[in-house]
Amino acid sequence: MTEIMKKKKRIALVAHDNRKKDMMEWVAYNWNELAQHSLVGTGTTGKLVEETIKQKCVENDAVPPEVTRLKSGPLGGDQQLGSMICEGLIDMVIFFWDPMQPQPHDVDVKALLRISVLYNIPTASNRSTADFLISSELFHKEYKPRIKDYSGYITRSIDME
Ligand code: PGA
Repeated sequence: MTEIMKKKKRIALVAHDNRKKDMMEWVAYNWNELAQHSLVGTGTTGKLVEETIKQKCVENDAVPPEVTRLKSGPLGGDQQLGSMICEGLIDMVIFFWDPMQPQPHDVDVKALLRISVLYNIPTASNRSTADFLISSELFHKEYKPRIKDYSGYITRSIDME
């Protein structure tokens, strides 16, 4: 499967509680760029992203974008996001996860990070990486990501003896 990543990207935003301030600073700084793409977030992060961009839009006489909100991460939001990646509905993940505190949904976090690697999704876990992603030349144009061919795995023979 190789889908073209369009100029207008479908960007997922997720931040653990201790990283939300960091992410909202990043969102506020990049609001104008982000507002030109489709945004989706886990419940609480999505709400904060929406509020942050809306405030910037009001200050600058711009129309605020809608942010699609999934369930809160610990309530299944990370899994919803993983499912969207499998379905080819997400182009990029900005996921500020907390390296200092265990999460009740640790397994979901791991699953999301695994699936984003599996599907070759650009994923930023910190502000520096997010800065590099958003300022990349590729961010602003169509891009054709290469997806590893798993057909050999799908058609593997299973020993039923
Ligand atoms: P939240 O979830 O945006 O609903 O806080 C984030 C997460 O913990 O994965």
